[in-house]
Amino acid sequence: MSWSPSPSWIQRWYPSRWSEIVGNAAMIQVWLNFIANGPCNALFTGQSRTGKTRTISLGTRALVCTNRTATHDPCGHCAACKALGDGKTELWGTFKNLCGSDYSLIPIDCEKVTSEELRELPYEGKLDGNKVIVYLDEIAALRRRRLEGMLLKLIDETPAIWIASAISLKRTKGIRKGEWSERMSKEMRGRFAIKVGSSHPHADDLQPWIVARCQEWNITILEPEITIPEMIRRTCRRVGYLIHMLAEAATRAFRSIGPDDVRRFNLDSQD
Ligand SMILES: [Zn+2]
Repeated sequence: MSWSPSPSWIQRWYPSRWSEIVGNAAMIQVWLNFIANGPCNALFTGQSRTGKTRTISLGTRALVCTNRTATHDPCGHCAACKALGDGKTELWGTFKNLCGSDYSLIPIDCEKVTSEELRELPYEGKLDGNKVIVYLDEIAALRRRRLEGMLLKLIDETPAIWIASAISLKRTKGIRKGEWSERMSKEMRGRFAIKVGSSHPHADDLQPWIVARCQEWNITILEPEITIPEMIRRTCRRVGYLIHMLAEAATRAFRSIGPDDVRRFNLDSQD
């Protein structure tokens, strides 16, 4: 009998192998280089739902894993892999030592972090070492929340490695209307040695990816010759939206997705 993951499991799915990521070749290469030669500060940018967060999550898990596979995937079984889950759990101090990983991981949600928390971050030597990875999710929020200055100081004064993600938005007014921007200051961008954008996968790569996920998750594609191209067209090749479509398919009695389901699917704002 095949395994049928729940709709909410599908919605929260994170890749556990590099081969499960479609597109984003430049981002993947950055992580493979980090694994081989050590990381440095890196900024990952791109439109929403293009797989930035999922790629960063796999990258940090692979870096922290103590028993990576020959294809540089996290093993999924070592203490570090188990402790990290989807890659948003802090791995530091005694907890890290128990896992036997060389790397610490400190994830920060920039929409929620407080000035107090940022101030306390370097306490107890938490940021002392070039094997400390601080992951800043949605870094542009810090500027809006007037916390950017505090972070610039931390980046300059500690040896930790800073990995950040930022959503690219299209400017809707002003002289730079139509340009893509991350709404970050020049000073902050300047702190990252590597800047790489996420990219939409090619339709030819997405087709086998959709088929593979549906097989793995026990979802039946009705009239695949119509349904699959329509899924790719309607989601504008964004993996995040495809995952939502498959989560919805898993809510239906027969776990199926057909042309009408795809046409009816409610995509949120086209940002
Ligand atoms: Zn592992």
